[in-house]
Amino acid sequence: MSPQIIGQFLEGIETKQSLEMLWRLAFLFVVIAFVEQGLAIVTTYVSEDVAWKATNQLRKEVAAHCLKLDLSFHQKYSPGTMVERLDGDITALSNFFSQLAFSLFTNLLLLGGVLVLLTVIDWRIGLIVTAIAVGTLIVLDTIRKRAEPHWQAVLQANAELYGYLEERFKGTEEIRSNGATDYVLRGLYRLQQARMQKEFGALPWLVANLTLPTAALTLATVTVFVFGDYLHQRAGLSVGNIYVLYYYVGLLGGPLWQVVNQIESIQLAGASIGRIQELRNIESKIKDGTKTPLTQGPLRISFQDLVFRYDEDEGNVLSDINLTIYPCEVVSVLGRTGSGKSTLSRLLIRQIDATSGIVSLANDGAPPTDIREISLDHLRHRIGVVTQEVQLFRATLRDNLTFFNPSITDQQLQATLTEFGLGDWLNRLPAGLDTIIGAGGQGLSDGEAQLIAFLRVFQRNPSLVILDEASSRLDPITEGLISQAVARLLQGRTGIVIAHRLKTIKQADKVIILEKGRIVEQGSPSQLANDPNSRLAEYLKIDENASLYPYPNNHEASVIAQ
Ligand code: ATP
Ligand code: MG
Repeated sequence: MSPQIIGQFLEGIETKQSLEMLWRLAFLFVVIAFVEQGLAIVTTYVSEDVAWKATNQLRKEVAAHCLKLDLSFHQKYSPGTMVERLDGDITALSNFFSQLAFSLFTNLLLLGGVLVLLTVIDWRIGLIVTAIAVGTLIVLDTIRKRAEPHWQAVLQANAELYGYLEERFKGTEEIRSNGATDYVLRGLYRLQQARMQKEFGALPWLVANLTLPTAALTLATVTVFVFGDYLHQRAGLSVGNIYVLYYYVGLLGGPLWQVVNQIESIQLAGASIGRIQELRNIESKIKDGTKTPLTQGPLRISFQDLVFRYDEDEGNVLSDINLTIYPCEVVSVLGRTGSGKSTLSRLLIRQIDATSGIVSLANDGAPPTDIREISLDHLRHRIGVVTQEVQLFRATLRDNLTFFNPSITDQQLQATLTEFGLGDWLNRLPAGLDTIIGAGGQGLSDGEAQLIAFLRVFQRNPSLVILDEASSRLDPITEGLISQAVARLLQGRTGIVIAHRLKTIKQADKVIILEKGRIVEQGSPSQLANDPNSRLAEYLKIDENASLYPYPNNHEASVIAQ
């Protein structure tokens, strides 16, 4: 509209129209400019709003779905990949909603409209410019297709670089202490060089992509001026019309370039939809049960002829496990690294299901229920687990303790912290319960992180507690605090303690020793310790305070031996 008015304005000057007429045209021009801007704001707002709402909902759904998937799923996809799939793919979709769909439509409309208008004003110039535009579109599309493998290579090189950085940043401490900084930097240099080479490969296509629309535009402008002048002289084409033609040709550059790129982005959005759908179609192998038989109070656990393997093609990780753990009993599980101890705990919270055999749970006096029939939420609510690697979140100490449950009061937390011997520690913290703890427990010692994990479990008042002890060594004071905390945590509950420190087994009613996934010894700690032929006695002979692994290839044992 606006250029038409400017055209009329120029024609008005040429044909000496009244000043009032020219003023009106100028006013109309301003009004239209305002309306255009207003419409742009409204459409941007509406499309962004739709995009945010729809994609946030989608992010939430997909994230919730993924969180419920099996352990094997989470082992298959690294955190980096998951972020890319959850965020990258959905952002591509969000772009589609907020900008692409609308803007491709308007660009196509603009392109078509401009070409039609040019043809209406002067069909000869219109036809030539249309030919230039169509030719440019075809060439741009060819460039895009040729450039695609190069861009994919750049993306791949980027992913490798970021993966490398993520891993090295995580291991900063080890890298520094082992003097591997130069080696790591050389690796970084190599990956950056690889990325640069890939980018060089893509560069000519990028330059072609960027310059072609400008070249096409220049050609079209020259056409307008050369033919316009000719037609002005010979066929009476007015200066106003030449301006309008010139203005419209100027409008072609943007849409020409954008249409091609937007078509590509739409293809990308299509691919994203496919990948999101694929993620949503992955079903958990662990089927949820319906029964809710467990109540507060210690549980009885029974493993019957249990066999488990992670992979169908691989050997059994657990074999012929037959074991009953009675309410309030505390069982220490010992065994070499890789003997299947943590696997036993994963079976109980159904991160994995037995390959054959049955695991059942019951409260005192109640009939046993196969854990596969119990609702997962119900089951996991009644079992508290502290794993070998304590996971703390970047949040306040309060949130880390309550797990974002607002119904637990500060008084309760303070009382529990004091009960666990952490009262003084809490008082020394700068902001008390509001102190922010870093992700991965930065700023806390290993011992403190473990104590926090114990407290977290304690708040939930579970009926069965599984402690997979961390293998890191602690100072004697922290050790003391931990032993005290463990004793408090296990009080009135059934407990399974996967012990990496022999001291811990003193608290146990029963000791089980696993070897290559089989129970090779079980009995009371004192009975086994006093039997000189028992494996436990052999373990104890090495060092009362040492790691449980009396093998020379064990790092910890060899450190102790020094
Ligand atoms: P540690 O004392 O080192 O913690 P562990 O006794 O807890 O050892 P598990 O984690 O139960 O050992 O592992 C038992 C065996 O199962 C090991 O051989 C291990 O390699 C294998 N394993 C563990 N997790 C998986 C998995 N997700 N997929 C395939 N194999 C696994
Ligand atoms: Mg383990």
